[in-house]
Amino acid sequence: MSINIIIYILAFIFGAIIGSFSNVVIYRLKIAKNGKANINLSGRSKCPHCKKELTIFELIPILSFVFLSARCAKCKKPISWQYPLVEIISGILTVIPLYFLGFSNIYAYLVILILYLFIVIFFYDLKNFIVPDVALYPLFFLILVFDIIKLAKHDVILLNLFIGTLIGGGLFLILVYFSREKWMGWGDVKLGFLLGLLLAYPYIIVSHVMAFIIGAVISLILIGFRGKTLKSEVPFAPFLVLAATITLFWGQMIINWYFRGF
Ligand SMILES: [Zn+2]
Repeated sequence: MSINIIIYILAFIFGAIIGSFSNVVIYRLKIAKNGKANINLSGRSKCPHCKKELTIFELIPILSFVFLSARCAKCKKPISWQYPLVEIISGILTVIPLYFLGFSNIYAYLVILILYLFIVIFFYDLKNFIVPDVALYPLFFLILVFDIIKLAKHDVILLNLFIGTLIGGGLFLILVYFSREKWMGWGDVKLGFLLGLLLAYPYIIVSHVMAFIIGAVISLILIGFRGKTLKSEVPFAPFLVLAATITLFWGQMIINWYFRGF
């Protein structure tokens, strides 16, 4: 086996372990009505049904879920698919930046950390319809470091960062302000600004358009299959971070493809 394959496998395992911690954050983080976040990280994870404390063998990322056949060892109630899903996605998103950007590329490691926060935002908003600030602060910090390095390496110009940030959050700011948070929330505005700061112009446009398209398609599917109405709350941050992730890796390709016929 080549040394690269071994590193990719180790990277995947590392990512899956981080994913297992992300699951804890996604499940235990509570945000009060006044916006105060509270997370209790003490105590072992328990089965949500019978409160049985999980042993070390029940906490192995992905594998425990498979060996337990997706059921609690004691009460046999089903374990949520979200656990292994987050761990697998976290593993894959650790490998992808290393694969595309290379082991010696500082961007790869920053992108991996950014993607870990994207995963938390994706699943937390999906479950609770709120973008947690506790994930946005470290995201802001990582994106700042990312941008400073990009500016220093002349991989982006300041003007494009500025325009990207304005576009990234500006449109949502107007939407939220005039709809009084009916169509989307302030969390989406903050996230929008951060994604603009991350992707810069013109990529932020690609990302946001893609988020709207994915969001519209998924909403129509939900309306068709689940009898949700147009008024049902659909979280938007998952589409935003999904589109931003795709744009981070394939943004240039998408732009080239789109303008090929012009
Ligand atoms: Zn149980």
